[in-house]
Amino acid sequence: MQVEATFPDVTTPTLELRISRSSPGRYSLHDFAKNVYDVHTYGSNGREVPTTRPDAYGWNVTGHGGSVRVTYKIYGDYVDGTYLSVDETHAHINMPPAIMWAHGLDERPDAITFEQPAGKRWTVATQLHGSGLEFTAPNLQYLMDSPVEFGPVAMREFTVDSHRFRFALHHLGTDAELDAFARDVEKIVRQEGAVYGEFPQYEPGYYTFLADYLPWAHGDGMEHRNSTVMTASRSIAQSREQLLDTVAHEFFHCWNVERIRPQGLEPFDFDRANMSDSLWLAEGFTQYYGPLMLQRAGLVDLNETARTIGGLVESVVNGPGRQVRSAVEMSRMAPFIDGGRTVDRVNWPNTVISYYPFGGAIALALDLSLRARTDSRVTLDDFMRGMWEQFGKPGGTREGYVDRPYSVADAQAVLANVSGDRAFANEFFRRYIEGHDAADYASLLARAGFTLRKRGAGRSWLGDVRFDARGRSLRVVNLVAPEWPAYAAGLDQDDELRQIDGVDVRTEGDVTAMVQRHKPGDRITIVFVDRSGGAAHAGTVTLGEDPHVEVVPIESSGGTLTSANRSFRDRWLQPRS
Ligand SMILES: [Zn+2]
Ligand SMILES: [Zn+2]
Repeated sequence: MQVEATFPDVTTPTLELRISRSSPGRYSLHDFAKNVYDVHTYGSNGREVPTTRPDAYGWNVTGHGGSVRVTYKIYGDYVDGTYLSVDETHAHINMPPAIMWAHGLDERPDAITFEQPAGKRWTVATQLHGSGLEFTAPNLQYLMDSPVEFGPVAMREFTVDSHRFRFALHHLGTDAELDAFARDVEKIVRQEGAVYGEFPQYEPGYYTFLADYLPWAHGDGMEHRNSTVMTASRSIAQSREQLLDTVAHEFFHCWNVERIRPQGLEPFDFDRANMSDSLWLAEGFTQYYGPLMLQRAGLVDLNETARTIGGLVESVVNGPGRQVRSAVEMSRMAPFIDGGRTVDRVNWPNTVISYYPFGGAIALALDLSLRARTDSRVTLDDFMRGMWEQFGKPGGTREGYVDRPYSVADAQAVLANVSGDRAFANEFFRRYIEGHDAADYASLLARAGFTLRKRGAGRSWLGDVRFDARGRSLRVVNLVAPEWPAYAAGLDQDDELRQIDGVDVRTEGDVTAMVQRHKPGDRITIVFVDRSGGAAHAGTVTLGEDPHVEVVPIESSGGTLTSANRSFRDRWLQPRS
C-alpha cells in the first residue's frame, strides 16, 4: 500500500515520525516498522530532505522549513484485528501498522482520503467520521482506534432504542446468510443493551461491525470505541455459533474496556506496550458475558452454555498457574501472551492462566454469589451498571479518550456499593482476584440446577503428560506440573519414558493401557532417561484420579431440577425484554 501524509505547521526543528510498536487492544509489541520501506520526506519547498534514524521505529526530519510530506510503502498480508492486509480483494486496514504519525502532534485532527485502486469500486466501512472516500479523526488516539474495511462491503443496518448499528461484511457467502446473521446480531445487541440499561453515545452516530469471513483470514476479534473487527476463516454457513460468540464478546466491549476503561490502557501508548491490572475484568468478564448473552438471546441451548461454563471452571480449578499468579498478576502478562511471539521456551503452562477464562470464571463466581446472597435481586449486571455509571458514562472531554479509567480498588469499591456489603467485596477480591483461591463452583452452580462433576471419575491419572509419538521413543513434549502425580517421580519435559511396571512402553496407547490397569491411589514404577541420554532413572508414581471437570444441567445427569433451581436459573439465563 502506498501512503502519503502531510504534516503542516511544524514548529519544531525536528519532526519525529514514528511507526507504532503496539496496537490498541492487542497488548504485546508488534513493531510494525518491519514492513515499512521506500520512505521519502519532502520539506516545505517540495525538495526531498534526508532523514536520520533515531531507532528502528522512527524517522527524524530536520531542515524541513515548516512542513513535511512523507511517502512510504507498507507491506501487509494478514487479515485479523491487528495487522494490515492489502490484496486484489480488499484493503483491510488496522491503523497502527499503516499510519506514520509524529511525536507531539497527538491532538491534531486528521483528514484521511482513500484512493480507489484502478478498476475497483470498493466502499469504505469504518468508525471514522465522514463518508465516501473522505474521512476525519479528531486526534491520533481516535485515528489509531479506527480500523477500515475498504472493499466489496455488504452492509446491513438496524436500529435499537434510536441507536444505529451497521453490520459490514466481506465474505464469499450469500445475501440470505448475511440477512439472517444480521438479525441474530440484533438480538445480541438488544440483550447486551438490557444489561446496562442503555447504549453509549457512538461518536460518528452509529456503531459498525466490520467482519471479514474469508478462507485466508485468521480468526480474531478486536474491540474499538464505535466498531469492532471480526475475522474468521470459516463462513457463516460453516461456523455460525462461533461467529456469533465473537459478536457477543466484541460488542460487550463497547461498554466494558472501551468506556469502562482500566487504568494502564488509557491513553494508549504507541511507543511501548501498555500494561493493566484489570484484564480479568476487562477481558474476563466480557468472556463470561458473551456466551451468557447468546443464551439470553436464545441463540444457544442449555447444554452449550453448560459446556462453556464448564470450560471456564476447568481452567481455574485445574490450571496449575493459579498457585503462582493471581488474576491481577495474570493481567500483567498480557504484553507477553497476547500476540507476542518469541522463540525461547516459557513455563507458562505451569504459571499462567489466560485472563480470559480466569476472569470469566471469576465473573461466574461473582454473579452466582451475588444472586445467592440476595435471592437474585442483586446480580453481576448491577455491578456492570455500577461500573458504567461511575467510570464509563461520564466519558471524556476529548473524543476517543476516557477521563476516569478505573483501578482494581475502584472496582472493589463498586462491588461493596452494589452488594451493600463491604466485607463481602473485600473478601472476594482478597481471595479470588488478588489471591490464589478458587470459588466453590459446585455449590454455586447447584443452586441454578447445574452439576459440576469429574469428566473421568474413577479413572487413574498420571498427569496430562503428552508424548511425541513420531519417533521410536516416547519423549515428553510438555512441562510436567508440580500438581501432577508424574512430577514426584522426577519425570520432566524432554525425558524419554521407557517402562511402566517393568513393561516396555512404545506408544501413548501403551502408557494409557498401563495406567488404566490401576486404580487411583495405586503406585506404579516408571523408568525413564533424561535428555542427556545417560543412565536410566527409576521412579514411583502414586496415581491420582483424573481431576478434569465438566458442568451439565442437573436434569440431564439423573438429578431433579427443583422449582427453586428453575427459578434461580431462569432469572439468570432468561431473555431480558
Ligand atoms: Zn475484507
Ligand atoms: Zn475481548
